[in-house]
Formats: sequence, C-alpha cells, structure tokens
Amino acid sequence: MESFDVVIIGAGPAGLRCAETLGNSRLKVLVLEKNKEVGPKVCAGGLTGKDIEYLNLPQDLIDFQYDEIKLHVKNSCSTIKHSNNFAYTIDRKNLGQWQLKKLGQYKQIEVRTNSKVSKIEKKYIIVNNKKILYKSLVGADGSTSIVKRYLGIKPKDVNIAIQYIIPTNKYKEFEVFSDPELFAAWYAWIFPHKDYVSIGCGCNPEILSSKELVTNFKDWLGKNKIDISKGRYEAFVLDYDYQGHQFENIYLIGDAGGFVSGLTGEGIYPALVSGEEIGKIILDPGYKSKKIEDLLKVRGKHNQLMGLLIKYGKFRATIFYIGMLLLKIPYFRKKAIRFLA
Ligand SMILES: Cc1cc2nc3c(=O)[nH]c(=O)nc-3n(C[C@H](O)[C@H](O)[C@H](O)COP(=O)(O)OP(=O)(O)OC[C@H]3O[C@@H](n4cnc5c(N)ncnc54)[C@H](O)[C@@H]3O)c2cc1C
Repeated sequence: MESFDVVIIGAGPAGLRCAETLGNSRLKVLVLEKNKEVGPKVCAGGLTGKDIEYLNLPQDLIDFQYDEIKLHVKNSCSTIKHSNNFAYTIDRKNLGQWQLKKLGQYKQIEVRTNSKVSKIEKKYIIVNNKKILYKSLVGADGSTSIVKRYLGIKPKDVNIAIQYIIPTNKYKEFEVFSDPELFAAWYAWIFPHKDYVSIGCGCNPEILSSKELVTNFKDWLGKNKIDISKGRYEAFVLDYDYQGHQFENIYLIGDAGGFVSGLTGEGIYPALVSGEEIGKIILDPGYKSKKIEDLLKVRGKHNQLMGLLIKYGKFRATIFYIGMLLLKIPYFRKKAIRFLA
C-alpha cells in the first residue's frame, strides 16, 4: 500500500501553496486533484495588490491591472482612483499551471490529477478504489470539502456566487455594482480578462434565495444591456464558516477551512496564506501563525460589516451612498482599499 507523510486533497491555490511550502523538506507529499487538469475553477479571477505582492506574480500572468475601479450604487457611479494599481485580473487556469510548474523542482512532491478522493478514514484515504496511507492530511478541497465533512463540520455560513463567462473584449473597466434591492448586502461585478469577461454576482441564500438571486441577476443583466447569448453560465458555493484549521493531524485550508471573505468573496489570498501557514505548522508543530490570526481578524471585520448591512436592510442604499461619498476623500479611500482589498 502506498504511504505518504502528507496527503493534500485539492490542487487549488491553497493546496498548491501548501505543497510548495513543504518543498524543501524531506517529507513525501502527495497532492490529489479530482479534475483532469490543474487550475480551472468557477471564479471571477479578481486579485488585489496583496496577492500580487505575496505571490511575486510574473507580469505576463496578469490579464489586466487597474489603478481605478468603477463603483456603482444603484444609478450613481463613482470612480475610485488610487496612486498605485490595486485591482488585477488573472485567469485561474494560468494561475494553477504556474503554481504547479513551481512544484516541478521538488522530487518528493507528486501531483496526481483525475484523482477524486471518495473516502477518508483515520489513517488512510481512498482514491480511485485504492487506499493511500497518510501521516498528515490537508483538506484543500474547496467549499464542498470531503475532509470538512469527515471531521463532522457542517458549514452554516455559505454564499452562492453565479457568473457568466463571455468571450468578448468589449469590457475594459473593473466594475462593482451595489444594488441592495437586487443583491442585498452583496454586489455584482464586471471583471475583464484578456479573452473574456466574468460578469456575476453573489449572496447568502438565507438572505436572498438562489432563485431570487438568479431572477434579480437576469433583471440586472437586461437593464445593463449585457449580451449573455454566447456566455457560459457557472455557479458555485463559497464556504465562509471558519471552525478551526487544525484537528490533530488533519488540517483545513482555503475554502475548505472557511477562510474566504463572506462579504467580498475574496478567497484566493486567504487560500494562499492559509496553505503556506499550514505547511509551516506541519514542518514545525510549535510554529504560531500570526498570518492566520491576521486573516481571521480581517474576516471578523468583514463579517461585522456584513451583519450590519443585513440588519439595516431598509437603509442599505443610504449606507452605500454614504460609503461612496466617503470614498471620494483620500483618507477614507486608502482605508477602504486596505479594508476590502
Ligand atoms: C463565482 C465565483 C467568483 C469568485 N471570484 C473570486 C475573485 O474574483 N477573487 C478571489 O480572490 N476569489 C474569488 N472567488 C473565490 C475563490 O474562487 C476561492 O476562494 C478559491 O478558489 C479558494 O481556493 P482553494 O484552493 O481553497 O479551493 P479551490 O480553488 O476550490 O480548489 C479546491 C480543489 O480541490 C479539488 N477537489 C475537490 N474535492 C476533491 C476531492 N474529493 N478529491 C480531489 N480533489 C478535490 C477541486 O477540483 C479543486 O481543484 C470566487 C468564487 C466564485 C464561486
């Protein structure tokens, strides 16, 4: 029977970053990915300055970069400009393939695609009907994590996000649309990429049902005269219910750990950071992760703001308008960019 020191389930940003962190050790690491290729994922591919800095991403991997974004609140629009670029788009396949390539230098790390883990037991997992033994197991398997289920954790806080991927280069600007009547505390977006655009929206189905969200999104697409006839419809959940990241020799990172922001849906950065930090904890069980603490602090603030926006539903539009006015003041703009991005 095969045996590994660390088995990582899921080759998304979290799992690949975790594997890379283990790269210079002597640990025998296996990354299992159910898809036939690494990278593609239902995602708008929006990044912020901190992702770029953290990853040291090569410029040619970035689709577009922006020093301004357009913020729409119902029928008003304001441009949020900053002295540096602070919003970026990237294709998820390109990001995944770049992360994967970096693992090529480590002989003791193996990545297997077409490898769906179907069962987890205390000392082994089952993949393609074969048992594989592990000493440490990392759940990097996203918002529908089998590892989280095995641990008996049922996520309570889950958002749904839907999008159309439309093959066009008509859209040039990075745009966010807040319309409390259609999207409650959440928003719709237009994120342009080199060969396509991601246009989508999200919300918590307990506040606005999935059916209502789809109907509202269709209304909004119609109002904004967005042609989706050539678009590919996609939908996925975002688990933002963090209930811990270490359970003896089993770890949860990225969306599996509920690290994604419930307010903005930003999940790539927390996936990368939690992946790296868990890698460090595996290497040194005494390591105390300040970065995970920081992620959880930001997460807490996002949840607080989201709670307020949900609670004051009737006044949401007013709150967004006030926010838009405050964003015109450089001091608040800087703070807001740091808070949200
Ligand atoms: C519509 C939408 C738009 C989004 N837009 C953005 C955005 O613009 N910016 C941003 O930062 N975040 C965005 N997100 C969130 C972001 O996609 C996730 O937070 C991020 O991908 C999390 O990375 P991860 O590595 O934790 O999980 P994932 O990227 O989900 O990777 C998990 C991997 O595990 C694999 N897997 C799952 N189960 C198994 C199994 N049983 N066996 C083997 N492999 C398995 C999956 O195939 C997948 O490759 C968006 C999400 C959605 C749904």
